Amino acid sequence: MKKKFAIILAFIILFCHNSLVLAVDSDKPLTEKDLEGLVVSKSQIEEILDFFSESFENKIPIDPEAAAIRFGYKNFEDFAKQYLKLFKLTDISVDEIKEFLEVTDESVIIDQSQENLDKLYSLIINDKYLKKKTGYFKKFKKGKHKGNQINKMALAVYINYEKEMAKITKNPNLEKVSRFAFWYGFSWGSGTGHYRYALEGCEKDAKKHKLFGGECIVVDFRNPVTGEIKNMLKPDIELAKRMDELKKEKLKPKEKKKVIAKVKEKAKEPVITADLTIPVQVYLVEVNKPNFQSKITEDEVRKDFKIANNIWNKKGFEFKIIEIVKVKGNAKRIEKDLKWIKNKYIKSLRIDRKEQKVKAKNQQRYNKILFRLISHEKNRNKNAINVFYIPYMPSELSCGVAYSYSLNKSSNHEINQLRRQNRGFIIIGEKSECKSRGRTVAHELGHMFSLGHKHDQKTDLMMWGRGTEIQNWQINKFIKYHDKYLKKRLTF
Ligand SMILES: [Zn+2]
Repeated sequence: MKKKFAIILAFIILFCHNSLVLAVDSDKPLTEKDLEGLVVSKSQIEEILDFFSESFENKIPIDPEAAAIRFGYKNFEDFAKQYLKLFKLTDISVDEIKEFLEVTDESVIIDQSQENLDKLYSLIINDKYLKKKTGYFKKFKKGKHKGNQINKMALAVYINYEKEMAKITKNPNLEKVSRFAFWYGFSWGSGTGHYRYALEGCEKDAKKHKLFGGECIVVDFRNPVTGEIKNMLKPDIELAKRMDELKKEKLKPKEKKKVIAKVKEKAKEPVITADLTIPVQVYLVEVNKPNFQSKITEDEVRKDFKIANNIWNKKGFEFKIIEIVKVKGNAKRIEKDLKWIKNKYIKSLRIDRKEQKVKAKNQQRYNKILFRLISHEKNRNKNAINVFYIPYMPSELSCGVAYSYSLNKSSNHEINQLRRQNRGFIIIGEKSECKSRGRTVAHELGHMFSLGHKHDQKTDLMMWGRGTEIQNWQINKFIKYHDKYLKKRLTF
């Protein structure tokens, strides 16, 4: 009886004198499942590719130049160069990417006549790049594979059939089709694998070149024994039906307005400000490897925060550094990890047509490499926003990153609890291609309080480039999130 009373008493004392002690005790290490809910902020290139593929799939015409500028690039070429560099593509030009992103002209009634199909066929078969790169024509001449007499061959290409046919309908003298991927297959005897090989190889080639919006179709069949060569392009029945409807629609005297996905200029709003000071704990993750070495000093970190605060102070926010701590990075495997990131992770970035998103295979594994490096469970001030500095972002896609449950779209009990536990953190690369590390810090801090990238303009802090503006709705969103989930945690 006495013992029970003592426990209750202890409980009351703890509860009354320091409610935080109880709150701290209640948060356990994150499980695998918890970690899945931790959303990583996206890099500039990932967001713009999302935007392009989304517009493409929804057939919303875009202006590639305006889009590039909106997402913080100098111009389209600037974006295209990063894209080519990232995916190590040396055989596509900037113009080809631009052309590729252009959507089908919806005003054209596509004519799928045999004449036009032959024209498309001829443009593909005589394409300079195809001729240079494929072994298809040579194989046809030779007619043999390891002593076997080939009697069936097929060439498949990844192309946006509708878009190309629209171009030909509009201009019968078209000289070139958009860049396409291709593959061929062959078989001998009674074998029938030629179509399948061609199509499967074509899909792979398209993925390798990060193409989207089209599909692989068989274009050419040939038989080296008889010399037969056939154009395999056939009219698309679905498309023909749609065109019939469009014809009827066009006969009606009605004007159709085009929707263009571009940035709307916002009207000037009255200035509102907050009055909020947020505690920040900084960890300098020390690593000393030849290609991954930390050098940053406390002074440099303070300078970053001065720049970040210059931006946020205008709106009444202050991020106050509680402490800057040097911690040993868990970097035993970092060299191996860096290799994996370069060779596997980056190459696995691809555009997911169904989800209209850029997805990397093994995103979880990449995250874990970072989590291990910084030991986020151990290095954690539960009552401050935690910011880690590492030599550079291993993917080199971005200058910094925010891992936050606030960016998770779901709002279930588990996620809300993790939000209340202040389970997110920021990672900043000491070195990066971004001009201002302080601005990166300011940007990532916004992510910790639920601010995303969408619906912003290029002059905004939450977009890329050199923007530093913070909108009223962003202030409101920030405060709402802070008050709901973090107010009790973020104490001095
Ligand atoms: Zn961001």
